[in-house]
Amino acid sequence: MTTFPYRRRTTTTTVGLVAAASLAATGLPAAAGAQPAIDEATGAPRAELPERVASAVDLTGLNRHLVAFQRIADRHGGTRAAGEPGYDASVDYVVARLEEAGFDVTTPEFEYERFTIDTERLLVPDSELDVQMFTYSPSTPGGGLDGPLAPLPPERELGCASTDFAGVDVAAAIAVVRRGECTFAEKARLAADAGAAALLVVNNTGGPVHGTLGDASAGVIPVGGLDPVDGDALFDAAGTPATLELVGEVTVDTSRNVLAQTSTGRTDNVVVVGAHLDAVYAGISDNGTGSAALLETALRLGAAPEVNNAIRFAWWGAEELGLHGSTQYVRSLDSEQQLDIALYLNLDMVGSPNPGYFVYDGDGSDGLSDPGPHGSAQIERALVDHLASQGIEAEGTAFDGRSDYREFVAVGIPAGGLFTGAEGEMTEEQAARWGGTAGEAYDPHYHQPEDDLGNVNRRALLVNARTAAHVATAYGLSTEDVNGDPGARRRQAAERGQLTDGAPALPRTGRLATR
Ligand SMILES: [Zn+2]
Repeated sequence: MTTFPYRRRTTTTTVGLVAAASLAATGLPAAAGAQPAIDEATGAPRAELPERVASAVDLTGLNRHLVAFQRIADRHGGTRAAGEPGYDASVDYVVARLEEAGFDVTTPEFEYERFTIDTERLLVPDSELDVQMFTYSPSTPGGGLDGPLAPLPPERELGCASTDFAGVDVAAAIAVVRRGECTFAEKARLAADAGAAALLVVNNTGGPVHGTLGDASAGVIPVGGLDPVDGDALFDAAGTPATLELVGEVTVDTSRNVLAQTSTGRTDNVVVVGAHLDAVYAGISDNGTGSAALLETALRLGAAPEVNNAIRFAWWGAEELGLHGSTQYVRSLDSEQQLDIALYLNLDMVGSPNPGYFVYDGDGSDGLSDPGPHGSAQIERALVDHLASQGIEAEGTAFDGRSDYREFVAVGIPAGGLFTGAEGEMTEEQAARWGGTAGEAYDPHYHQPEDDLGNVNRRALLVNARTAAHVATAYGLSTEDVNGDPGARRRQAAERGQLTDGAPALPRTGRLATR
């Protein structure tokens, strides 16, 4: 992931201003003589709800959830992955905390396709090389597929055009190409069209290639990936006899999401906030931090807060296997139910050990990805401004569909979220601004067994959790700046003829005068 400097915006009160602004926009005079509520404990004016919830979020609560997730992983073979008992125990933990706080909790099951790999290796004379079978690749015949290696020449090694295979004898051979430019599925189709019996894709950067063909229909010939350490030599091994063994299959598994919604607030303009609960191993940074921030927000807000819009909390399953929980959830809603969702906020990795402070680039201003649906720019602004109120200058990050906001965006729901970085490396400029280590990954243990309790920056976690709590609660008060929904107050104001935006007072029936 690349990052670009982000335009600095006005400071703290913006988010508060969001609610205040929308109240102001209603032209609603503060109730005559209405004094701000007094906090009995301090005698001082009581802060707005978003501020109260955000400041109630603390490290003690957040860290308690991280410790719980670590112990769950320790008790279940070091993993909280989908389909493993460690994931179910994580579900039970979150459900128990929410029920204790008075939430009605559901854990809807969903089905998803899982690709289970049994064997993956390449035998060449005198050695056996590690190969990564691509998801949805068909298996080689029993005993493996024999054939000569057929690498493409350097000037056209990508295999992204049929002409790249011209003049190369790939018939019944194992074609070898380089990763890059086009999809693995496109490379496989072109190789198959050229007569290849199988395809090997050598990575264009260090490390193995854990790729996918996207879906079963793209599995035309067996396809595997190689780390350049093993694969580069294959480009000089044209004609070398080899045996490729790739054995795997698609199985249909089930898993669960966890859903809990405030009993207060409108259910036709719902604010959804989500984080995936599954992991690759213990997954304390990815995504124990997001799950903990979401849980602490829900517990601090409570099950029946003074909000106008209901807030729905979602812990997604099987995100690491393909965003399955969130995708199945959105697809399980009919169009009216999707319309009832005002916006979606995502928390996926919000406490990376070498933390960046990123906000999804909802307005596309960083040129990293397309803008999100209308309202996504406003969500980005709200998140950036609340981070700024805590002294953090955030940067935009690609809205590239790599996390659970993807399906919400796909159906037109405005979205945004927070992210502290994964395998990408921090720049000098970022390190100077955020105090991290330049040249080091934001999370050096991303998707590795070492992603444990020691792999979290707790300051970043607290800052992001408070921003999530503040912004989610503020949208619980009003989403007007995101989707123009006036909410109850403006409608009442309009009906009472108290609109100050120049529009004529609405007759009680609500229909505008025709002349
Ligand atoms: Zn994640």
